[in-house]
Amino acid sequence: FASTMQEFPLTVSAILRHGARVYGGSECVTWAGGGEPRRASYRQVAANAERLAAALTRLGVRAGDRVATFCWNSQEHLEAYFAVPGMGAVLHTLNIRLFPDQLAHIIGHAEDRFVIVDDTLVPLLARVAGRLPTVEAFIVVGDGDASALGDARVLRYRELLAAEEPGFDWPELDERSAASMCYTSGTTGDPKGVVYSHRSTFLHAMAAMSASLMGITEADRVLAIVPMFHVNAWGLPYAAFLSGATLHMPGPFLQPEHLTAFIAAERSTVSSAVPTIWSAILNYGADHELDLSSLRSGTSGGAAAPRALLEGFEQRYGLRIIQGWGMTETSPLGGMAFPPPGVAPGTAEDVDWRLKSGRVAAGVEMRIVDPAGEELPWDGESVGEIEVRGPWITGSYHRDPAPEKFHDGWLRTGDIGTIDDRGFFQITDRAKDVIKSGGEWISSVELENHLVSHPAVLEAAVIGIPDPRWDERPLAFVVLRDGASATAAELAGFLAGKVARWQVPENWAFVEEIPKTTVGKFDKKPLRARYRADEVK
Ligand code: ADP
Repeated sequence: FASTMQEFPLTVSAILRHGARVYGGSECVTWAGGGEPRRASYRQVAANAERLAAALTRLGVRAGDRVATFCWNSQEHLEAYFAVPGMGAVLHTLNIRLFPDQLAHIIGHAEDRFVIVDDTLVPLLARVAGRLPTVEAFIVVGDGDASALGDARVLRYRELLAAEEPGFDWPELDERSAASMCYTSGTTGDPKGVVYSHRSTFLHAMAAMSASLMGITEADRVLAIVPMFHVNAWGLPYAAFLSGATLHMPGPFLQPEHLTAFIAAERSTVSSAVPTIWSAILNYGADHELDLSSLRSGTSGGAAAPRALLEGFEQRYGLRIIQGWGMTETSPLGGMAFPPPGVAPGTAEDVDWRLKSGRVAAGVEMRIVDPAGEELPWDGESVGEIEVRGPWITGSYHRDPAPEKFHDGWLRTGDIGTIDDRGFFQITDRAKDVIKSGGEWISSVELENHLVSHPAVLEAAVIGIPDPRWDERPLAFVVLRDGASATAAELAGFLAGKVARWQVPENWAFVEEIPKTTVGKFDKKPLRARYRADEVK
């Protein structure tokens, strides 16, 4: 029995059309580091996207070709977000913090034909420019020196656009065709390419703007701190065009003093960032007067947010940070931890709910399984690996089928946790970070969260180390706040009141800094290496 509904393809150009027509006056504001930021209406962004698509067509870019970006969050990056998928090519957002070898590998693996690059990032890209045989030219945004890329291959974004007229005729595309791609940041293994379709991008953007995820409307001004190279800035650019929210783009100015100046000047209403960035803002605020009064909500994701962080923002700024969960493979939004109705904001119970990693998003299906692959109950206690499926969850990797990452059509997330009977899930660890002591699991995330609630502790990361008797025991790396002091015995005593005694680490290392990944998460690989190299005892 046939439905009577139209076959309407869900495409990135449909997102662009909607934003430009219905919210043409909404703005993309790019921070300039002081002075007047650059402003462009969505109408202007759309016109520039049309010019860029025309220019790329003139350069010979065809459907399915990959065009990369090596850019900060900015107006031009946004234009590329629409132009490249809209014309049927594939936008490959490159992580600007990758090591040169990884960068060259990924560009070659994706066979990028052009790279759009910010002039301020030319020196970083130049380190691999000689090793990019698939790249025909670099399209440089800004007028800065780009000779390090080799003059023969340098084109200027501004000149290319100036030579074209707006009014590009966006092709009718199959919604299942590729729109963009992003490689996993490789925290726990080699980077793998995830390719998003038009359909997945559209559906994810609809979900992202809904009240159960980002909940943004035309009244919002969204500060996108999460980089556009980190899983499409969590879908914010497309969700903004669908909802009419203004976009605040910080460019290279990701230091707390800049971010907070941007918020104060442009009155951002919501923002999204990984916990390390939120922590940096909170720490900066300890001895600086900040005006965050315009923010009505913040999203934290990418790693577990500690209680001290949620409480700190609430107490000092009245800002309610909501935690979300996702990964490159999940576009990324898989769930957001909004407390259920009836929980009073600002109470300890409210924080308890917000410490969950998320509540399963509409459109995503989730389950937890034991090591034998058997499904476990949603009882909030059974611990297993989280698996997901849905229209914006990847079913494979680019040129890498990786069957071990899938299970009967479900993506194995590599995250270990619980789900309760209402779909709230709690990540206790990544499979690779789990500490198994005497046959029982110790959650590194839980220990870390308690540690950073100690007034002397700035950062903490816990890893498992081999132990002849217990198999593994926790080793805690701790960074103390400037001028603060605390001994291992003191911190162990502090934890003893909060977790079971056998979970308290007996191994401690006081360090200057916890290494961070390319997207600003704590990086445990170098910590394990330091342990193996006998640098810590
Ligand atoms: P990478 O795996 O290289 O860090 P991603 O950005 O794709 O790259 O990270 C996804 C992972 O981040 C998830 O599998 C999970 O381990 C972690 N993560 C994301 N959100 C949360 C959260 N709210 N709490 C705990 N871990 C999270």
